Amino acid sequence: MMSVITPDSNNKSQYTLPIWYHPIYTNGIHPKARFPRDRYTKLLDRLTTTELGTKFDIMEPKEASRSELTMAHDPYYVDNFLNQTLTEKEVKRIGLTPWTPEIIPRTLLLVGGAISALERVVNHGGIAGNMAGGTHHAHFDFGSGYCIFNDLAVCSMIAIKKYGISKIAILDFDVHQGDGTATILQNVPEVLTISIHCKQNFPFRKSISDYDLELPPKAEDAAYLKMVRKALELTTEFEPELILFQAGVDGLTTDSLGKLNVSREGMKLRNDLVFDYVIRDSIPTVVFMGGGYSEPIGHTIDAFCDLFVSASQANETILANAD
Ligand SMILES: [Zn+2]
Repeated sequence: MMSVITPDSNNKSQYTLPIWYHPIYTNGIHPKARFPRDRYTKLLDRLTTTELGTKFDIMEPKEASRSELTMAHDPYYVDNFLNQTLTEKEVKRIGLTPWTPEIIPRTLLLVGGAISALERVVNHGGIAGNMAGGTHHAHFDFGSGYCIFNDLAVCSMIAIKKYGISKIAILDFDVHQGDGTATILQNVPEVLTISIHCKQNFPFRKSISDYDLELPPKAEDAAYLKMVRKALELTTEFEPELILFQAGVDGLTTDSLGKLNVSREGMKLRNDLVFDYVIRDSIPTVVFMGGGYSEPIGHTIDAFCDLFVSASQANETILANAD
């Protein structure tokens, strides 16, 4: 295909990386909640500087529908959340408290962002991201660990039922196990679930993923990257048509919930390993942010910025190769 390069007033790259984002990702969380809610606005500021802004298209999500959520969740749980009739105990298990009514549109827009990113890569190939989510601790009929609905599981079910995709790999490289994803998708043969995580960390009762690649505390870069290579070997054997990448950066040394002692450079190498594979086999890929709780939060923002910059470069390579 012949491409025509037209001058653009924004000097945008020909192949920008679409990232879904909404201010409610931050504003929908109460300022007093024990969660670094500013990470979304801070990351947006970084990705929209004159230096980086040409690489990304910031897209506005629409709300996920009830019928999309119930593809991966118990309708009673979905309705109790939407009607604000969850018990105090159920809300406490999720966290992000105190909740405001904004938690409902926030949650629906957050899952909606992931669904739109999925739709983009299924229809146009390449990579797309959601600047939130990776809510892997949400189970079929309850939420936990800051996660209300499981965007990875919802996207998997939509990919199967709506788009007829039969091989999906979920690469969950967050420091915590993707326990909700593992249980929801346990009997879904179309989905391969791989979780690299710290063995001695939340959730303390682990689920069973297709592959759980566990690391001891203070594993550091070499051991972490060895697991990443192992995960990519397993993924290559599976030959996925779609990758959902939970790219949590809470394995960083500076993370308050982490324990893996991975450096910023180590995280970058992790991203490069994933994206080199995605480029090589030209696999449509959705990037989910996942965890990141460094103190100060700047280290988390640096690592997420690296992630989206690498994703944009990889996306450009894939789409240029396809033209
Ligand atoms: Zn995490």
